[in-house]
Amino acid sequence: MTLAEMDAELIDCRACPRLVAWREQVAETKRAAFAGETYWGRPVPGFGPADASLGIVGLAPAAHGANRTGRMFTGDRSGDVLYRAMYDVGLATKPEAHHIGDGLELIGTRITSPVHCAPPANKPTPAERDTCGRWLARELELLRPTLRAIVVLGGFGWQALLPVLAAAGWEVPRPRPKFGHGVQYVLDGPTELRLFGCFHVSQQNTFTGRLTPAMVREVLTTAKTAAGIP
Ligand code: SF4
Repeated sequence: MTLAEMDAELIDCRACPRLVAWREQVAETKRAAFAGETYWGRPVPGFGPADASLGIVGLAPAAHGANRTGRMFTGDRSGDVLYRAMYDVGLATKPEAHHIGDGLELIGTRITSPVHCAPPANKPTPAERDTCGRWLARELELLRPTLRAIVVLGGFGWQALLPVLAAAGWEVPRPRPKFGHGVQYVLDGPTELRLFGCFHVSQQNTFTGRLTPAMVREVLTTAKTAAGIP
């Protein structure tokens, strides 16, 4: 199976009844500012080339962002911060992401998430995380030949990713590496994989100054070098 084939299967997934109901309800009721748009309202697949050497793992699609546009971090404030920083360090061809078809391409990088459907209050349950983890596992398996580094945005993504990496054959130490902004770990396994922690680019962090654009750029620059992206 190719990554494109996996994505085609993913967008039809209805395994989590609560999330299916929520994503579709949001797509139906919409936010007033987007009343004239047709929401995606389905699972949001990863974004970026199938031979990426750097992964970025977030949390889940935002109700009126990726759940509306159908592309990771596209059309919301979190994406504004992330794509601006990616552009600044040479990982994206444009500094902004508005909609599929806006011409944005990622350079050597694939953005994905442990949960592919928008959850109420941005909070998936542990059961939903585990159910969707099988998609992340398949995605990482397909990326494995080229994947050299992963930036994880936030503690939820970190907790979700570690067991998937362990199941995929990477040696995740015990006790498990702790999440923190700026932490770095090297995992042995099918390939050497460098793991980087970064606070999530949510408004909660960026509006309060807990996470600044410079902090995001710093982590991305280090990870880009680790991934061998020129
Ligand atoms: S969260 Fe994942 S597993 Fe659950 S319905 Fe969406 S795509 Fe399927």
